Amino acid sequence: MEQQGKRSWLARFGQSLVRRRLIVSAVYLLLAAAVILPAQSLLRDSLMFEQQQLINERLALYERTIYGELQRYRTIPYLVAQSELVQDLLRYRTAVLQANRYLEEAVRDSEADVIYIMDANGTTLASSNWRAPDSFIGGNFSFRAYFRDAKAGREGGQFAVGTTSRVPGYYISRPIELGGVVAGVAVVKISLTGIERSWQTHDESVLVADHAGLVVMASRDNWRYRWLPGTGAGVVPPALEIPGAHVDEPPELPLTISSRRGYEIAEIDGERFLSGRNRIEPLEWELTYLLPMAPINQRLDTSLLIMIAAAVMLYLLIALLHERRETLRSRREAADAAELRAVNTQLQTEIEERRRAEQELRAAEAELVQATKMAALGQISASVAHEINQPLAAMRTNLASARLLITRGSQEELADVMQQVDSLVHRMSVMTRELKTFARKSDERAEPFDLRDSVSNALLLLRGELAGADVQVDTALPETPLEALGEQVRLEQVTVNLIRNAIDAMESAEERVLRIRVQEEGAHAVLTVEDSGSGISGDPRQLFEPFFTTKGSGSGMGLGLAIAERIVTAMGGSINAQNLPSGGARFTVTLPRRTS
Ligand code: ADP
Repeated sequence: MEQQGKRSWLARFGQSLVRRRLIVSAVYLLLAAAVILPAQSLLRDSLMFEQQQLINERLALYERTIYGELQRYRTIPYLVAQSELVQDLLRYRTAVLQANRYLEEAVRDSEADVIYIMDANGTTLASSNWRAPDSFIGGNFSFRAYFRDAKAGREGGQFAVGTTSRVPGYYISRPIELGGVVAGVAVVKISLTGIERSWQTHDESVLVADHAGLVVMASRDNWRYRWLPGTGAGVVPPALEIPGAHVDEPPELPLTISSRRGYEIAEIDGERFLSGRNRIEPLEWELTYLLPMAPINQRLDTSLLIMIAAAVMLYLLIALLHERRETLRSRREAADAAELRAVNTQLQTEIEERRRAEQELRAAEAELVQATKMAALGQISASVAHEINQPLAAMRTNLASARLLITRGSQEELADVMQQVDSLVHRMSVMTRELKTFARKSDERAEPFDLRDSVSNALLLLRGELAGADVQVDTALPETPLEALGEQVRLEQVTVNLIRNAIDAMESAEERVLRIRVQEEGAHAVLTVEDSGSGISGDPRQLFEPFFTTKGSGSGMGLGLAIAERIVTAMGGSINAQNLPSGGARFTVTLPRRTS
């Protein structure tokens, strides 16, 4: 039952411990989340900001690169158009070979892709790639916008994929005027693949769309020649046109751009990028730079993991420290409890020892009282023997006288002698009775008793004697019980003795007043008996010696006060006698007061 109670208490304690831990853990979790989440958000913001800066820098750089690259070649068609050789070619259709060589030379010098001259109908007359099998010579490109622009007297510029070579490039054209008429067109084709290759080498994600929305340059091949979403889907752009041949309409690039917290997030084929866009204004092209989100997310994930790991480690550390403190505390508590138990045991042993010692002391005390009594008895035995010898000797004499009187037949005298013997026997019986009382070992247990009762009982016993001796009794008793420990009858005996002595002492006095007072004095209960008698003659201490008496033979044994003193001493108190200034004697009995 108790075992069960203990177990359920343990279970409850365990449960409350688990509950407390759960609450503490939950609070810690909330605190950790309150720190980690804003930190993560801050880190994300700073990373995004940093990456956006990078995007802006790259956009500016590539805008300059592309535009600069095209700008570099802009003057070539102009210069070519000014050449005498080229003008002669258009004018007379002669010196084709020289013109080809001239253009070939120009390409080598400028690193342009191809430079060629068309007549006013768009047919190529001379070209730098005159030696190649897919040379432009003889080809007619009048359908190209750049030709039409130049024919109209303007500078032309267009991105297109070559109809013969299938090599993409940017074409810049200039009219060649002879006598105020456009007699031909000079064209330079610039390859942009070098820039694209450099993007690929550096693992950059870039795409460039022309004015119509067609992706003309891209770092990834599968992005190129696709329409940007919402531009020319379902149409073949002029850039890809090949006269007389079927060209599939380019599909739309699966690109979506959404804005999140002020940043542009692009998604292509499930891949996400942080993106930025810039217009290359003179060309009306749009440059898009894409920065994959994966590394950013990876960095964020790593930092989140690190923070979570740090939080877990901190939690474990705190838990470990807490556990250690708990262990130390419970160890200390156990030690304290053990110490307390030890002190308790020691205290119990001491109490036990004390009780035993007390018992022994009480026994020794009882023995001592008895021994004292016996010693006193021994002391008085001699007196008793002496006292008894006298009446015994008297009785022997009386008996001898009686025997003589019997033989003489003197009846009257015999009666006198017998009367004397009787008084002697009486005297001896009184003596033995008193001695018996004195020698009796008290086996009654000390009990609390009211002093007032002892006094009242004693007065009741002596009512007749007091009235007979014409004594005026003045009693002062407390209103509440005043208790002492001992035998009430014994104190009654003492009181009776004191009152009797007082009556005796006042026998020849004119005024007979007996004053009895019971009062509390600190830790003591005090009984005083005063009389208006003759007073004490001699040393008051003497009165308490056995067989001291001033009373005439037969009336006093001199044992009363001796016995009274021993009774009072046995109760732990004291008795003394003194004379009153007004005459008379006062006997004071002092007993330890019993307090409850
Ligand atoms: P007893 O009364 O047999 O003489 P006690 O021991 O009682 O023996 O008294 C001893 C003596 O003390 C008495 O003989 C008496 O001289 C003296 N005494 C006792 N009480 C008084 C008293 N109240 N006034 C004067 N003397 C007294």
